[in-house]
Amino acid sequence: MRLKLILPKVEPKKFGNPKKCPQEGCPGKRFIPRQEVSKKIVDAQYREVSAWRYECLVCGSTFRVYPEGVSCKQISQRVNGTAVMLYMLGLSYGAVELMLGGLGLSIGKSSVYRAVQAMIGKVAGLSKEELAERKYKTKAVGADVTNIRCNGKWIPVGIVVDDTNGIVISIDALPGEDTEQLKAWLEPILNAVDADVLVTDDADAFKKISDETGRAHQVCKSHVGRNTDALVDELSAIIQSDQDPSLSGMNIKSEQALADLAALKEMIHTRQPEDQARLEASYLRYADAPKPGKHKKHCVAYRMRNLFMDRWNLWPRLCFYRNWKDEDGNEIIDGTNNHCERAIGWWVKERYRSMRGYKRERSALGVSRLIALAGNHLAHGLRLADLMA
Ligand SMILES: [Zn+2]
Repeated sequence: MRLKLILPKVEPKKFGNPKKCPQEGCPGKRFIPRQEVSKKIVDAQYREVSAWRYECLVCGSTFRVYPEGVSCKQISQRVNGTAVMLYMLGLSYGAVELMLGGLGLSIGKSSVYRAVQAMIGKVAGLSKEELAERKYKTKAVGADVTNIRCNGKWIPVGIVVDDTNGIVISIDALPGEDTEQLKAWLEPILNAVDADVLVTDDADAFKKISDETGRAHQVCKSHVGRNTDALVDELSAIIQSDQDPSLSGMNIKSEQALADLAALKEMIHTRQPEDQARLEASYLRYADAPKPGKHKKHCVAYRMRNLFMDRWNLWPRLCFYRNWKDEDGNEIIDGTNNHCERAIGWWVKERYRSMRGYKRERSALGVSRLIALAGNHLAHGLRLADLMA
């Protein structure tokens, strides 16, 4: 987990001017300062600060104004921010209480809990309105689904990143992982950020979604490379052991089949768009392999047919990034779904690992979103005070 969090400060001399009367229904906007009063606080630097009592010129009611970093509560924003930071780093609510107590800062674990929940509330999920409001645009988004354990059951969590820079756009709990459910989640996001390209692993659901939403599709070259290598190795070993008669039944020599597999393994790593024709030719060699009867083991010839057919069909999605370039002729995306995987690892899984599952879905999502937001602000740091206003 990489985080750069900027803690709030307490500035006893800095007071903002009250803008609106806190009394409900009162339109008062002018106030007179009546009295300076002292206020005890829990803070790393100050034990006591001054607050000002103001009187509203319209309704006559009085209220207090506190210096920067202090509220009507006893615990300063600095201590609350430190508590949230420690929690994000992996301490439990109780452990945060112990640690801050050891430094002479008295904060109960229920106050730690409230501070974390309050901050989570500020990084709510992205409804359609929020997405539209943020006006974030990108040409390519990466999407992936992971599962986290919450109160004894696994919940699918979808994550969307800007695939050109790794910024996390959205983290959401999903009702399920079938195509319709994924599409209902993903399509509004694709529309809101104006994406032309969707980057995913090679799950069929994502292929359908890209087709149905009219987006170009990049399937992660690393995923496909790994899967293909494993299949080629497995099939080659079976052919070399000479135990499967299905190829000779089609008059295909073992040498030919092994050469086809070796060529596939090479092409899957060089990914030249024009190799699609070679894959088609390989596929045609096995196209007539009969489908084995129900409950029968799939023979090598039939598996070769499916493998070459799949990679031949997949080819444009695998090589898309090669031909998608900016004005200077550079590739815009790298052809992997690494931004998504990194986001899941750093922002969702790492904090989660230390706690054997969340108790509540709200916390699971909220903490992940908060950490991801901090991750989005790595360059300059995330000012926690902005999330406490
Ligand atoms: Zn008033």
